[in-house]
Amino acid sequence: MTEYDYTKVEKKWQEKWAKAKAFEANVDPDKKKFTVSFPIAYLNGSIHVGHAYTLMKVDAYARFRRMLGFNVMFAQGWHATGQPIAGVAERLKKGDEVQKRILKQSGVPDSEMKKFTDPLHISNYYKVLAKRDFTNFGISVDWRREFVTTPLCPPFNRFIEWQYETLKKLGYVKKGTHPVVWCGSCQSPTGDHDRLEGLGIGPIEFTIIKFPFEDGYLVPATLRPETIFGVTNMWIHPDGNYAKIKVDDEIWYVSEPTIIKLQDQLHDVKVISKFKGIEIIGKKCRAPIRNEDVKILPATFVATDHTTGVVMSVPSHAPFDYVALRDLKNNPEILTKYGLPTDFANDIELISMVSTEGLGDHPAKDIIEEMGIENQDDERTEEATQTIYSKEFHGGAMRENCGKYAGTKVSDIKDILIKDMSKEGTTSSIWEPTGTVICRCTTKNHVKILKDQWFITYGDQKWKKKAHDHLAKMTIYPPDARQAFEYTIDWLNDKACARKSGLGTKLPWDPEWIVETLSDSTVYMAYYTIARIINEKDIQPEQLPNEIFDYLFRNKATLEEAVEKSGLDEVIVKEMKEEFEYFYPPDYRASAKELIFNHFTFYIFQHLALFTKGHYPLEIEANGMIMIEGDKMSKSGGNSLTLKDLIDRFGVDASRFGEAYAGEGYADASFRFADTEAAGKRLKQMFKELTEMKFSTEERRIAMDN
Ligand SMILES: [Zn+2]
Repeated sequence: MTEYDYTKVEKKWQEKWAKAKAFEANVDPDKKKFTVSFPIAYLNGSIHVGHAYTLMKVDAYARFRRMLGFNVMFAQGWHATGQPIAGVAERLKKGDEVQKRILKQSGVPDSEMKKFTDPLHISNYYKVLAKRDFTNFGISVDWRREFVTTPLCPPFNRFIEWQYETLKKLGYVKKGTHPVVWCGSCQSPTGDHDRLEGLGIGPIEFTIIKFPFEDGYLVPATLRPETIFGVTNMWIHPDGNYAKIKVDDEIWYVSEPTIIKLQDQLHDVKVISKFKGIEIIGKKCRAPIRNEDVKILPATFVATDHTTGVVMSVPSHAPFDYVALRDLKNNPEILTKYGLPTDFANDIELISMVSTEGLGDHPAKDIIEEMGIENQDDERTEEATQTIYSKEFHGGAMRENCGKYAGTKVSDIKDILIKDMSKEGTTSSIWEPTGTVICRCTTKNHVKILKDQWFITYGDQKWKKKAHDHLAKMTIYPPDARQAFEYTIDWLNDKACARKSGLGTKLPWDPEWIVETLSDSTVYMAYYTIARIINEKDIQPEQLPNEIFDYLFRNKATLEEAVEKSGLDEVIVKEMKEEFEYFYPPDYRASAKELIFNHFTFYIFQHLALFTKGHYPLEIEANGMIMIEGDKMSKSGGNSLTLKDLIDRFGVDASRFGEAYAGEGYADASFRFADTEAAGKRLKQMFKELTEMKFSTEERRIAMDN
């Protein structure tokens, strides 16, 4: 049925659109504009069905608005800031075979691979492919407004310099000392885009309690220091690597992975000796405040790379501790394995120290027995922990065995207790990510306290208030995504905005720092409005002083100043202003819902800081992640599909239908080959009927219409 091959029509129309410059958006005061955008795509791989899912939403909406008579501007740029691309180049330089194989599998020819040691070559290579795929997919982009976020596009770097100099001037970028999630291998803070795993995870502070032990302290760390009143013993991993160290002027006993964390968290650390956990098992340490000795016992659930690798055991309230203690009592051979008498743990009794309505004296014991949890490795133990924690935090009070704290609510006790204990010098603290974070370089990250680092002050309460107020006026699709925005605005903290490695724009006042990937991609939609003129007139970065951006975007400089400082022709500067005033504010922007927790919210914050009223974003759509045939898309898991492969297999129109059918709303979408194939068949049938109809009678034509 090749005569009814509708895919030929696809090319015909794409050529017609190009010839007619159908998607070029020019200022037209008689027409209402509508500005849409899709995130600048990252140039470290090919465009895949996940990109295409969101792209279809943007493109369908853009085309719909055009049909309603709007002058739609849909521009597209490219992202290459940060470590991912630079990392590939570095690994190839070192001759990394795994990296070579990954690139080969993704279709990079050998002739190109040699040039992949240059990160700018990598971004250029993928830019060409991405632009090809966008065009072939029929995405209605005005390509005159294209840019890349690297030294490949110096005028854009200048725009970012202006953005950061302005934020700094306004007090939104400050130097400070803050904990950040840190990659020890890259020697840089790890933003969401730099991570293989651990999106949205930030640092949390654990309280260290110092238990006198031998000539120093054994130092467990906890989020619930009040449970000191229920501690029955200490847990150590018998096979774990531990060390005796000098921390500032004290002796501490900690797991080996703790050393780097303490060093990175502003402590002076010297290693005195190293030992295996088993060597201190069976000994005793002393619980502070209560001044009672407790035994050090073996437990394999202890993770030596989490906090200090020392765990205080509160079996009445902590399910993990209860299970581990029960294991020792039921299987005394564990104790003999470590040279301890079989009855060594028998004298340990549960100590109840919180009373909570609806919970028994020993809630951990109750919940473990109810859930039928058999041993330390049962994953449901974590769930049980969360349940008790939440109930005790919201409804619990300290029992009479907690001395002067008896009767205090659990929700109030932490601050009071830490204050008292730090007066006595019995506490310290350690920061840890709230979950596992793996850098793109595959290193597991920890928390470092950075001194004198540049931060964006997203924690600023006044700025948050403005963001909430503006969000209330915005249209959010789907409506249930709004809550996630509210939450993110509330919880956002000051965020490191620069790294020391990778591609990007240097901080103009501190050039050893490079503006990181989520910080130079917040307001580039404004750059699109002037990018056509910059590209066509080949405007150089030195012709873009701060005054020109201040004039264009903020009305903080005059036309005369902008012309004088830039050296540009007044006509050009006026034209730029006209483009910005016409195409701004950004009407609609879409991306995956995971971006609510960073990019989308930064997009709102930064617009409020940098632009004037009437230029703030209006509509955001957050879509679910795409699954392929019901399974999560994953390059490493082999369940991935590039847009090119999709188009080659089904043609453009069937692929567009397939993507559009995949889903809508906040729920994850599922791309199905059967739907795409069926769409292709229907298109073929329609094409056949329409082709035949062309030669038929008027009556038949009317019949077809009906
Ligand atoms: Zn790294």
